Amino acid sequence: MVKKNIDWENIGFSYMQTDKRYVSNYKDGKWDEGVLTDDANITMNECAGVLQYAQTVFEGMKAYTTEDGRIVTFRPDLNAARMVDSAKRLEMPVFPEDRFVDAVVQTVKANAAYVPPYGSGATLYIRPYMFGINPVIGVKPADEYQFRVFTTPVGPYFKGGAKPITICVSDFDRAAPHGTGHIKAGLNYAMSLHAIVTAHANGFDENMYLDSATRTKVEETGGANFIFVTKDNKVVTPHSNTILPSITRRSIMYVAEHYLGLEVEERDVYFDEVKDFAECGLCGTAAVISPVGKVVDHGKEICFPSGMEKMGPITQKLYDTLTGIQMGHIEAPEGWLKVIE
Ligand SMILES: *Cc1c(COP(=O)(O)O)cnc(C)c1O
Repeated sequence: MVKKNIDWENIGFSYMQTDKRYVSNYKDGKWDEGVLTDDANITMNECAGVLQYAQTVFEGMKAYTTEDGRIVTFRPDLNAARMVDSAKRLEMPVFPEDRFVDAVVQTVKANAAYVPPYGSGATLYIRPYMFGINPVIGVKPADEYQFRVFTTPVGPYFKGGAKPITICVSDFDRAAPHGTGHIKAGLNYAMSLHAIVTAHANGFDENMYLDSATRTKVEETGGANFIFVTKDNKVVTPHSNTILPSITRRSIMYVAEHYLGLEVEERDVYFDEVKDFAECGLCGTAAVISPVGKVVDHGKEICFPSGMEKMGPITQKLYDTLTGIQMGHIEAPEGWLKVIE
């Protein structure tokens, strides 16, 4: 297989059309067998459920080229399971988990020429998603759905290494108690756009959302979970039913405990104790970990001892170990890497 002639080191994080995508349709109570297609466009009725009432859920994951030249994805079974939870919460049919993984494998295989080479820093981003496609005007779930998977090569999230970012405590809420914060639905992102544009306009990189009910506990950012490191090297992550269960964060907590022998805690994290932590990072598929150097709460600054120049030492170890597992030079726990070819 000949790789596409792409300047891998300099592609950004934006959509680039690749050759094939997977499509399966749900009609009369069942999914069809699914196909790979060349057509990147979708034709749907003007009144499609997704357009009127935002009935859509998605996943995000990556394919990597390992040091020994294999193409792998990272824990796709967890994305499949999470999409089941998301679909159920929005009254959508479940796309079977084994078929989800198979659709991802088929799509990556068909676009293997776009999987960036080892060492380029770039990866192939994979976007599975599902939406209501038949006309819906009275408020109810759609009857027909489409499940798709497309891929797009993306550059290293941080060009020239990860510099710590500055985040602000948001005045907006991300998720209500008993709402939809724990599922990966487009609607959670639509309503976060105003908050992130506002944060950027005020000179911040990201928002820290607090729990909507009491505004005393740390939740997450718009698209990444928090980890904190205490001064005695314990790795702490907020426990909450209204944050999205990040696969990266769950993997980092496992790596902290089982590879680095650190103590780990998933518990309520009060905003009042943030000032006492030594390190802070944001976890998600896109950047793996983005180090946070500073949190600003309405003019009051919390500066982590790790500073604004580089990741804290524990964050760096977590990052190196997890990316080492993903790139195949550190042995992965059983079942974490799905070899595509
Ligand atoms: C997708 C997402 C994350 C990160 O999850 P990963 O599985 O690690 O990519 C975190 N928060 C929100 C709100 C998300 O949508």
